[in-house]
Amino acid sequence: MSDYLVKALAYNGQVRAYAARTTGTVGEGQRRHYTWPTASAALGRAMTAGVMMGAMLKGDNKLTIKIEGGGPIGAILVDSNAKGEVRGYVTNPQTHFDLNEQGKLDVRRAVGTEGTLTVVKDIGMRDHFTGQVPLISGELGEDFTYYFVTSEQVPSSVGVGVLVNPDNTILAAGGFILQLMPGTDEETITIIENRLKEIPPISKLIEQGLTPEELLETILGKDQVKFLEKMPVSFTCTCSKDRFANAIISLGKNEIQEMIEEDGQAEASCHFCNEKYHYSKEELEELKKEAE
Ligand SMILES: [Zn+2]
Repeated sequence: MSDYLVKALAYNGQVRAYAARTTGTVGEGQRRHYTWPTASAALGRAMTAGVMMGAMLKGDNKLTIKIEGGGPIGAILVDSNAKGEVRGYVTNPQTHFDLNEQGKLDVRRAVGTEGTLTVVKDIGMRDHFTGQVPLISGELGEDFTYYFVTSEQVPSSVGVGVLVNPDNTILAAGGFILQLMPGTDEETITIIENRLKEIPPISKLIEQGLTPEELLETILGKDQVKFLEKMPVSFTCTCSKDRFANAIISLGKNEIQEMIEEDGQAEASCHFCNEKYHYSKEELEELKKEAE
């Protein structure tokens, strides 16, 4: 089953809703970065929120999420766009702790709670929107909720979950974002609040293998949800050997000459996807010519 997300409206257009299944996407991140379970959960939750936030954008707009909580995992970085493409990494992928008191992966302990969640939206024409909030939980779902309410002034609820197999691969991942449109009536607000209190934790819903559609119907009520759009989701990186070659060229010919003399070759690796690109001596000579 490949990953996808859905966009929907509910309660006569008063609620905007997103849900995603990201099992393969988070799995790709886990394989590329060799993340251990707690780090997989942290990165996977951030990527799942990120891909849904990307789906709120239009056209070629992009966004970057940076979470720095002061915990052992270091920083979490996630890039996403309006096409369902997401990529991400953490500073220390081999981070893992015993399960917490609720029997869940202890994401808070890995992420930390002394820091910030920052969202930078590239909305084209060199325009950027930056929003930053202090981390209030470190579990990330609540932190994204707080971000929407505080930084974007949109009453929201974010649920993201990642389940990991004993062999560190990803069993299931997904999540939802609900947002109240301006002018939502009190009755609807109360209904949604009550439903959110009654539903099982997001990790349980994901464990049950619900599709994104079923997830929203479970949360909002089967007859209430009107689906608007379905979009594939994937771990996709924009790096390439050419892009890194341009970065090497920009170092200048003296620097490239040093590489040739000292190592006789060069290797570049992409932070976001951990892909490695190798440049032979001959290739470096070519790049040096271009740098002149
Ligand atoms: Zn890459």
